[in-house]
Amino acid sequence: MPVVKPYSPSDLKRVINELAPMLGDRIHLSQATREQHGQGEDSYGCLAPDAVIYPFCNEEIAQIVSLCNQYSIPVIPFGAGSSVEGHLLAVQGGISLDLSEMNQVLEINPADMDCRVQAGVTREDLNMALRYDGLFFPVDPGANATIGGMTATQASGTNAVKYGTMREAVIGLTVITPEGEIIKTGTRARKSSAGYDLTQLMIGSEGTLGVITEIQLRLHPIPETIKAAICSFETVAAAVDTVINAMQMAVPLARIELLNALQMQACINYSKLEGFEAKPTLFMEFHGTADSVNEQVALIKDISHEFGGSEFTWAETTEERNELWKARHNAYLATLKLQRDCKVLTTDVCVPISALATSILQAEKDAEASGLQSTIVGHVGDGNFHLLIVFDPSKSEQIEAAKQLSEKVVMKALALGGTCTGEHGIGIGKKHYLALEHPTGLNMMKTIKKSIDPKNIMNPGKVIDL
Ligand SMILES: Cc1cc2nc3c(=O)[nH]c(=O)nc-3n(C[C@H](O)[C@H](O)[C@H](O)COP(=O)(O)OP(=O)(O)OC[C@H]3O[C@@H](n4cnc5c(N)ncnc54)[C@H](O)[C@@H]3O)c2cc1C
Repeated sequence: MPVVKPYSPSDLKRVINELAPMLGDRIHLSQATREQHGQGEDSYGCLAPDAVIYPFCNEEIAQIVSLCNQYSIPVIPFGAGSSVEGHLLAVQGGISLDLSEMNQVLEINPADMDCRVQAGVTREDLNMALRYDGLFFPVDPGANATIGGMTATQASGTNAVKYGTMREAVIGLTVITPEGEIIKTGTRARKSSAGYDLTQLMIGSEGTLGVITEIQLRLHPIPETIKAAICSFETVAAAVDTVINAMQMAVPLARIELLNALQMQACINYSKLEGFEAKPTLFMEFHGTADSVNEQVALIKDISHEFGGSEFTWAETTEERNELWKARHNAYLATLKLQRDCKVLTTDVCVPISALATSILQAEKDAEASGLQSTIVGHVGDGNFHLLIVFDPSKSEQIEAAKQLSEKVVMKALALGGTCTGEHGIGIGKKHYLALEHPTGLNMMKTIKKSIDPKNIMNPGKVIDL
């Protein structure tokens, strides 16, 4: 991909020299650091930024962004680098702003069940900080992402079916605008009707509208009783029908995740799981009082038996439960190990729950016809699943076949009233699908982007092309 930079090398030098007295050795120019920041966990390759900066506070970011704006130098916020749609590629060069030094939990308010964190706090560190207050933060993408990155990509995870996504979790933000203004959005109130909702506008903006530096989050009490189990099926259709029925009966499951037979095989190998079979399997978790959990379990057992599900295998201890979910979170890494030197193209469609079976079964059929190995793993309680397409990046026909297969899955989801991305975001990889999904809304999105970032310095080339 050719990189066209909207600034001259001398302007970049001027900006770096001007920032040096304030930032000192927190400006990194080495090739290794730049390359590490010019890519995510995806198959889009690497386009390195010209410099990487590690800011400590809002005021520093405001100065950096304002100076970059003056010289039209792109700014690409960087969290943990775990995004999967080419979000971090420096397609027009510029500066990567790595928020990892802004990693303080600023306040925890147990009485209101909320907290305020800096953007570089990771989800695992936040849960460590919350454990003595009997609270937890439920949004759990497979990677140990930062809260800033998760807000910017509108992430979700295995708990979303009960606790919602980042959209429900974030109630306020501090944002540095492209012109270097420090603004606060939202309040600590549970709800508000005050004006345009800037918090929601920033969630999912993928670094294209400003730098998120602080996040006010809604938290949840750790449930009195937690039980986790798996149940395997002879076919994917039977597993999906179980999920659809459970959702339609409003069983308040905390987690219900599907892994198809090949994904189970990959996880058994990668995570060295014992006593599991390579069959379509549901991973489930139940939260609540002892009575309500027993009631949920009884309902789900009835439904799964109707579709030929196996007896439940229970993860009895906290350690066993953690191992189970770790194996689930490592599903992508497990798929990567299916073939030597392969890459994985990830689809992320989400459809209405009644269309889930059609969508998944068609994806399986298309995958088989493509001749490529593919696994399926999904947050099926939300209607969201990933077809992980394995391909050899040295074989052009496999690259093409993977792209075609991915396109088929997305087009089917759109035809069923779904979305091209349930949680990973648009990045550079799904821009053309955004136009197909929102043909009437795209112009308003462009207007918003142009009015907030008229010089297009914030993560240019992502989400929408101007
Ligand atoms: C193994 C694996 C499993 C995954 N599972 C899931 C899953 O279950 N659910 C899910 O939603 N995702 C999943 N992902 C994708 C990824 O973890 C999420 O997209 C995550 O939210 C990215 O956070 P990050 O901190 O790594 O952000 P980065 O990758 O560093 O950045 C992502 C985007 O956000 C922008 N950004 C980052 N920080 C800020 C900030 N402070 N202000 C403004 N913009 C910012 C960046 O510019 C970029 O556009 C998975 C990824 C992997 C590798």
